[in-house]
Amino acid sequence: MGNTGSKEDENRELMILKHAVENTNEAFVTIDQNHRVLFFNKAAEKIFGYGRKEIIGHDLDVIMTPTCSRNHREAVARYVKTRIPGRIGHAAEMVASRKNGETFPASISFSVTEVEEQLFFTGIVRDLTKTQELQEQVMQSERLAALGQMVAEITHEIKNPLMMIGGFAQQLTKETDDEKNLKKLNIITEEIRRLERLLADLKEFHQVRTIVSEPVDIRELLEKVFSLVQEECERQNIQTEVTLDERALTVSGDRGRLEQVFLNLVKNAIEAMERGGKILIQSRLSGGQVEIMVKDEGCGISEQDRDKVFAPFFTTKKHGTGLGLCISKRIIEDHGGSSFFLKSEKGKGTTFKIRLPLYRGALEGSARNN
Ligand code: ADP
Ligand code: MG
Repeated sequence: MGNTGSKEDENRELMILKHAVENTNEAFVTIDQNHRVLFFNKAAEKIFGYGRKEIIGHDLDVIMTPTCSRNHREAVARYVKTRIPGRIGHAAEMVASRKNGETFPASISFSVTEVEEQLFFTGIVRDLTKTQELQEQVMQSERLAALGQMVAEITHEIKNPLMMIGGFAQQLTKETDDEKNLKKLNIITEEIRRLERLLADLKEFHQVRTIVSEPVDIRELLEKVFSLVQEECERQNIQTEVTLDERALTVSGDRGRLEQVFLNLVKNAIEAMERGGKILIQSRLSGGQVEIMVKDEGCGISEQDRDKVFAPFFTTKKHGTGLGLCISKRIIEDHGGSSFFLKSEKGKGTTFKIRLPLYRGALEGSARNN
């Protein structure tokens, strides 16, 4: 410290240092040779959860686990006797605990000061919880990026030969009269279609998530989705009821992706109603948002499966990919200010509700129309 300055300068420096230490994010805990706490800064209060009144003047044991405390006491005693720094000067990572019993990863470094022949030890503790979470996130996203790259390459490699096999199978179907062979060819074609769907889902699942935000007419979109499944519904004896709000409800979102979401939901509804029933598709204005509901009278989802249906690759179907709901939920979540609800009762049916923000221009339009 400033040995060259006057007493005043020195006092000033001391004040600056004292405030710096008091206001830093690292916990500063200083003890004397007898393990008694002399200094416990604001960050220490925050990190460990003790008020300084509970700590200052008390043994450091108060904030330590018994084992940790024993080791620490021995290390201090050793240093006082030998002056050989063990941990001093190094940062160590360890698990520390807070007053409420919660443990946290911490980096601790030690320093020692000698004043008037008395030794003072300071532990500088950094809470690594956030750092570790961040590292974990980075690692996770790197892993996903690598996986995405691999999936993109593999799907690309599989797609072309698959298309070729499918093409030949269809060609042979046209040229064959043999019943048995026709059956086999149909199976080939069907299985290829299934694989193509899986590849498309996998690609979507690992795609970089960019959402285009454009005005999307929900009525138009739902009518298109409905037209895509109408035939299938008729074939399977499924009734449909489409109730769309009269006002053209324009949401702000990604048309292609939203279409995919509603198609997923309606397809799931169809697949859940092997014995027929009714699908209700509804859109309405609710609390300044557009609410779209897809309701079926199908098999429903059991309570224990309800949390799992959004997990990737969870499926109860023989030919399912288990990616539809996971992708759908993610697409909705990627639309800011939106929400996704699921209500289902085993044996009775399932309702999905999605809320999307109204397109701003539309608000003005509908206000004028009313
Ligand atoms: P997949 O349709 O390929 O199985 P999804 O992610 O779309 O994958 O759905 C996951 C699972 O959630 C389904 O296998 C099914 O068990 C359940 N599920 C989804 N939608 C419905 C629904 N409308 N009714 C009953 N179960 C459903
Ligand atoms: Mg599905």
